[in-house]
Amino acid sequence: MAGFSFSTPAWVDEINEAAPIFATIEARAAFVIEMSRRTVMEGTGVPFAAAVFEMSTGRLVALGVNLALREKSSILHAEMVAICLAERRLANGDVPISACELVSSSEPCAMCGGAIPWTGVRRLVCSARAADDRRVQFDEGDKRGDWADTYRGRGIDVITDVHRLDAVAVLEAYTTPGTDLYAARQRAGLGL
Ligand SMILES: [Zn+2]
Repeated sequence: MAGFSFSTPAWVDEINEAAPIFATIEARAAFVIEMSRRTVMEGTGVPFAAAVFEMSTGRLVALGVNLALREKSSILHAEMVAICLAERRLANGDVPISACELVSSSEPCAMCGGAIPWTGVRRLVCSARAADDRRVQFDEGDKRGDWADTYRGRGIDVITDVHRLDAVAVLEAYTTPGTDLYAARQRAGLGL
């Protein structure tokens, strides 16, 4: 195999091409949480989504969802996919990634948390906490307890718990038999 690439599902491509605008941080988080639900319903993967937005306008630069199972690559978490797509999209434009933020349905794991400072985004917004992920058996790896402060020390603003309970509801539905999300998970053969 020459090189490494990954493909994105058509439903994600359609959203990225439309590049919708979300005026507030809360609206951006709500959209990303809804995408964490949709990616399961579409059979794409586990319930995690992330997106890069232009901070001043709220324009979507790139939506990413977890593609680890679909693309058979453990590094393709939603945050990594969103960042890869955003960097490509911004490469030839006027908007630098330093004018952008990353919004994630869950607090980044150890891998994504390590990668984000290298991207140049200036703000991280997340909804569910790592503890919420762990409660439904998703391991976020070993992270420093003061990770948010280390980000702030690098000039990256961190806003947590935005619509946290909505993000938790998606995670819990994914792991609770009898829900539409659990049924979609079973249909698609998605594991944890
Ligand atoms: Zn991750």
